[in-house]
Amino acid sequence: MKKLVLEDLEKLVVVNCEKPKQKNDVIIKVSYCGVCGADMKSYRKGHRDLFYPRVLGHEITGEIEYVPAELKEDFKVGDRVQIFPGNYCNNCRYCDVGKENLCDSMEILGFHKDGGMQEFIEIKGASAKKVLNKIPDGLSPDIATFAEPVACAINIQEKVSIKGAENILILGAGRLGMINYFLAEKSSHGSVVIADVYSPRLSTAIYKKTLDLSQDDADSILNEITCGKGPDVVLICNSSPQSLVDAIRLCSKGGKIGYFSGLHKDEIDTKILNELHYKEIQLFGSYGCTFKGNSVALELLDSGMIPFEKLMAETYSLNDVEKAIFALEEKSVMSAIIKL
Ligand SMILES: [Zn+2]
Ligand SMILES: [Zn+2]
Repeated sequence: MKKLVLEDLEKLVVVNCEKPKQKNDVIIKVSYCGVCGADMKSYRKGHRDLFYPRVLGHEITGEIEYVPAELKEDFKVGDRVQIFPGNYCNNCRYCDVGKENLCDSMEILGFHKDGGMQEFIEIKGASAKKVLNKIPDGLSPDIATFAEPVACAINIQEKVSIKGAENILILGAGRLGMINYFLAEKSSHGSVVIADVYSPRLSTAIYKKTLDLSQDDADSILNEITCGKGPDVVLICNSSPQSLVDAIRLCSKGGKIGYFSGLHKDEIDTKILNELHYKEIQLFGSYGCTFKGNSVALELLDSGMIPFEKLMAETYSLNDVEKAIFALEEKSVMSAIIKL
């Protein structure tokens, strides 16, 4: 079988290796694997949770090829599955309250363990029931790869209680910005505004209210939309530190900020942090997603209530993952998935 190995920074190599042996683990033939901003970051700069050599990819769907005897009641060969990309202990203070993404023993596929950019992947028998979601019959496996990023957006939106928010501002109109926009539009009663400095990303009929940060007067437009209060919730969906500054400046008094993306490690003017104090802004961090979030995301994708096909994924082969990364970096595609 083939796998794509990140041997070092910017060094991706396709290698042939042995197929997993049929023993105690579930073997999955990978169908598709999404390329995430975190994979791009791992490729260019490395990542806190990544050790080389590593097979990237944590947005994975596939078909079960082998089931060990003790799991035959739960899974069968040919089942189409989406993989929650983290192995967690299920028995700690975080796992007990459904925050397994914070589990101290968490091992994430594509970071601590080899991920989905390979033809077959093994899931430990003991973990299978806490990481494998069956893909609903009508849902195609390429769209199902979006379950993981959708689950990440569900995680932050639950934290900031988006359902009760009147006005929402999303900073960044990349893939995660778009996913957050869809979810917020569905659940909030007020206006959802999506903003970016790169105007082509805003010129789609999908969005009702946009803000071009390269030329619009953000303050006056948001004042008009929010009757002078500012947005109740601001979600940061890109890695520019300027977005944190903008979020604090534009957020309403008593509002909430979702700190969703890791930011580049540039310096920011710490004076802006005093506004958290004066305006009583609450800052909510979120990292990754939960197993339950992934199954909720699959139901949402299957329901067709949200036009996730608008994420316009380009499909690449395992040999072309670098091409996918370059296309995402130059923003010529909205999202990319690898077909195995
Ligand atoms: Zn991801
Ligand atoms: Zn745990």
